[in-house]
Amino acid sequence: MLEPMIEVVNLTKRYSGHLAVANESFTVERGQVVGLLGPNGAGKSTILRILSCFLAATSGTVRVAGYDVFTQADEVRRRIGYMPENNPLHLDMRVREYLKFRARLKGLGVSASHQRVDAVMEMCSLTEVQKRIIGQLSKGFRQRVGLADALVHDPELIILDEPTIGLDPNQLRNVRQLIKDLGRKHTILLSTHILPEVEATCSHVLILHQGRILASDGTDNLHRKIFQRSPVVTELSAATNDLQEFFATQPEVETCDIISIDGDWKRVTMTSREGLELRPQICQWACEQRWPMRELTHGRHTLEDVFVKITRTEKEE
Ligand code: ADP
Ligand code: MG
Repeated sequence: MLEPMIEVVNLTKRYSGHLAVANESFTVERGQVVGLLGPNGAGKSTILRILSCFLAATSGTVRVAGYDVFTQADEVRRRIGYMPENNPLHLDMRVREYLKFRARLKGLGVSASHQRVDAVMEMCSLTEVQKRIIGQLSKGFRQRVGLADALVHDPELIILDEPTIGLDPNQLRNVRQLIKDLGRKHTILLSTHILPEVEATCSHVLILHQGRILASDGTDNLHRKIFQRSPVVTELSAATNDLQEFFATQPEVETCDIISIDGDWKRVTMTSREGLELRPQICQWACEQRWPMRELTHGRHTLEDVFVKITRTEKEE
């Protein structure tokens, strides 16, 4: 069996006394698309920089494709395509010229770089802007130039630090689709502080908070864990008293909070006992009671909610 794509054991990074990564270990298997999810300052960029041989760790071992990032950095660099935070590019160069320059810098010969640049421009839909000056392109295009740069030497592992930050919704969709397509052939580790980003693109997630990994799971499992305990929100047209009395007597309902919104409409926020799925039940109740309904959904979660839930779940297990 092949060794894992990334193997991090007891990794610690201190910046002049400040502990940015606290003795953490994790593995990324070949073919996975892993999201490193955490708020600003969690230590995401620090970990990605260490993996890409741009920063030395304070202690611990890090291996990429079986090679040590400290003692075998050349072997590691050959296998990694890294897009740093803020995607630094030479803004005064033209797209094709820049990518060829980068390909040559990464050790590709003249004809190989020619071929690869054409291929990655095609892959990242850059062919039509190949002669444009990078600084004059939109943020979405620039982001794709950054991705093309990361891909040009055909690396096994792609590391992307906040690849969709600052994109408008259209550009976001394009770049996410591109990442998904790349995930079919490459192993990807990307960082983000946005939960839906992980759900949209990643097969696995590592949740990082203050330099510690709080959870490591398949995205589907994480989704289940989060939503199992999340409140259900419904908007019903009925008297507050009727709603209160009814829901208070349902054994499935643990808590119920009702606020008036407009006209006769009430917003009811409920949690269920033992993580039961309440929504079909609520639908049925509304029909039986003849309460008009105009909304039925899960409450939204911020990243902070997720951390609270995850830490609680992990402790209980
Ligand atoms: P993230 O990418 O998740 O926002 P970082 O890895 O950039 O987090 O930073 C993790 C922590 O380390 C933060 O508290 C940050 O202020 C600190 N830090 C990052 N780089 C340096 C540095 N060069 N010197 C000192 N502290 C740093
Ligand atoms: Mg960062």
